[in-house]
Amino acid sequence: MYLMKNHLTILKIGGSVLTYKNRISTIKRKRLEKIADELKSYLEEKNEKLIVVHGAGSFGHPLAKKYNISDPHSVKNTLGVGLTHASMHRLSLELCNVFLRNGLPVYPISSGSVLMQKGGRISFFKVDLIHKLLEKDIIPVLHGDVVIDEDTQFSICSGDQIISYLSNKLPTRRILFLTDVDGVYTEDPKSSPNAKLLRLLRKRDIQRIKISTRDYQDDVTGLMMGKLKEIAKIKGQVLVFNGNKSGNLLRALQGDYPGTLIR
Ligand code: ADP
Repeated sequence: MYLMKNHLTILKIGGSVLTYKNRISTIKRKRLEKIADELKSYLEEKNEKLIVVHGAGSFGHPLAKKYNISDPHSVKNTLGVGLTHASMHRLSLELCNVFLRNGLPVYPISSGSVLMQKGGRISFFKVDLIHKLLEKDIIPVLHGDVVIDEDTQFSICSGDQIISYLSNKLPTRRILFLTDVDGVYTEDPKSSPNAKLLRLLRKRDIQRIKISTRDYQDDVTGLMMGKLKEIAKIKGQVLVFNGNKSGNLLRALQGDYPGTLIR
């Protein structure tokens, strides 16, 4: 298999950028069109490979919470599993339709059909399928999902975990995280006016840093803290920045750092 080193970018589109978190199952279509625009203008000039992974936002978290899917010992509600998975799949198709209409050759992949977990961590992943799509200049799109778990019947696999897994299996140049705040702060910027934006964070310091998080509310994957735990396991350079601000993604793709650089 052949995939040139330093040619692969993994883009995470956070649920907070992709959906209105307080409006059930509604995508931010205009925002997604802007993101597609910025991706397209960059990829037209550069011969780079791209994987898109997206979060759940209001398509996944409220259902996962309602059916208690984040508790690995109570995932017995098979209807809840089906409903949550189908909702994530629908979100993925909506995102892909926006990207396809904007000329991006994306290929939606339902995560639960290509990976499995054991105790809430990925234990099997058909990565060669992703690799083959990349070789053919297609952009695989994956999402956080409820997946089969060898220990607990089903468990949640976050988009962030999918990224940390893939970054260790594929020659990844960089990982870009689009979220709804300007980067990683010393505290939650939404509840603490004194929160300071961290421009640079070393992975080995993540464990030691006390980054406060507000109540998890409906988010079953742990907001910024959950994200940072996965980022600590990622191989490659990571950038966390605001995906709700136009121009940021293009700047980041072009090598600028419009948020927090983690390495
Ligand atoms: P996404 O949906 O974009 O993947 P999340 O909603 O899971 O992201 O996490 C981002 C949220 O985490 C932000 O909206 C912010 O309010 C919250 N947060 C909590 N603590 C921090 C922190 N120290 N720095 C940045 N964001 C934080």
